[in-house]
Amino acid sequence: MKKKTFTLGIFGGGQLGKFLVESANKLNIRTFVFTDSADSPAIYYCDDFIISSYKDKKKLDFFIKNIDLATFEFENIPFKTLDYVEKKINVSPNPSIIKTLQDRLKEKTFLNSIGIKTTKFYYLKKINKKKLDNNIFPALVKTIRLGYDGKGQVFFKNKIDFLKYSFKNKEYIIEKLINFKKEISIIISRDKSKSVSFDAFENLHKNQILQKSQVPANISAKLNVEAKKIAKKIADKLNYIGTMCVEFFITKDNKLLVNEIAPRVHNSGHLTINAHNVSQFENHIRAVCNLKLKKPNRFHRAIMYNILGNDIKKYRSKETTKNEFFYDYGKKEIKNKRKMGHLTKIF
Ligand code: AMP
Repeated sequence: MKKKTFTLGIFGGGQLGKFLVESANKLNIRTFVFTDSADSPAIYYCDDFIISSYKDKKKLDFFIKNIDLATFEFENIPFKTLDYVEKKINVSPNPSIIKTLQDRLKEKTFLNSIGIKTTKFYYLKKINKKKLDNNIFPALVKTIRLGYDGKGQVFFKNKIDFLKYSFKNKEYIIEKLINFKKEISIIISRDKSKSVSFDAFENLHKNQILQKSQVPANISAKLNVEAKKIAKKIADKLNYIGTMCVEFFITKDNKLLVNEIAPRVHNSGHLTINAHNVSQFENHIRAVCNLKLKKPNRFHRAIMYNILGNDIKKYRSKETTKNEFFYDYGKKEIKNKRKMGHLTKIF
């Protein structure tokens, strides 16, 4: 085997980091993981790792010295950390993108400014709550920052309930609850000159957490093409390098609304490991390391089920068939709703 010479630094050590490391290993690229948690699945697969606060400049300097470029598995790595690293070494995708996408208000404003439709929303700080448009209800109030898997979200059926609620000292948007037909996502990978994307994945959420994803999505070819075009427009406008996910609602009258953009590999793309010629993770590594992207080609229909919390115990003792692929992330601590593993079935 060729000696690995190039080292990719990865911020974050969760399951997304683990799958990124495994893809890098396959491509003979060294990996160095920087994580703030000892319970990080990726550390068992990478060449080197540091467990430290993302704010520790000494550790960051050591990391920078020992890598050729950096990427991240998760957009909630502090912007300041990524920006500090970017000043000394290339970080892909560029941290300035994170600044826009870590913030729901900036994200939706950006999307609307390039002609892409989102749910109707208001920034709560800038409006008189009593005069709020009644048509926004039923609605969800979401924290602008650090919300994912439904964290930081409160549902209001009507304005009366909304006005009674006392919000913490945080920034919020209020957004109309969509009675959608389906949710889909498009995963796109882009390098400096080209982008490739997977066809839409159809996603089902339970309590705002992804429960299952399947491919092909049961949608028209026209909607699939339209969603891919929107994802490409976003990636191009952001000058994005790496893999990114755009999540959509399909309304009852077949219109696409972007719910959010994940500037990273995404849970709905886990099934690409088993159903396609290339995974979302491998194309991320290819994009950031300047290797040729592979055009996705699907070999199988597939369904991926997330395994949360204690359910992992049942799966650990279950036999799988040859068409089932069980992934145990190996997290030490089992927490309610924590993503502990997933199962992909191919057909
Ligand atoms: P988010 O963290 O914003 O991606 O929300 C997680 C999930 O909650 C989404 O995938 C939807 O299933 C649901 N959700 C979020 N916002 C809305 C909305 N405005 N209308 C209906 N469902 C929503």
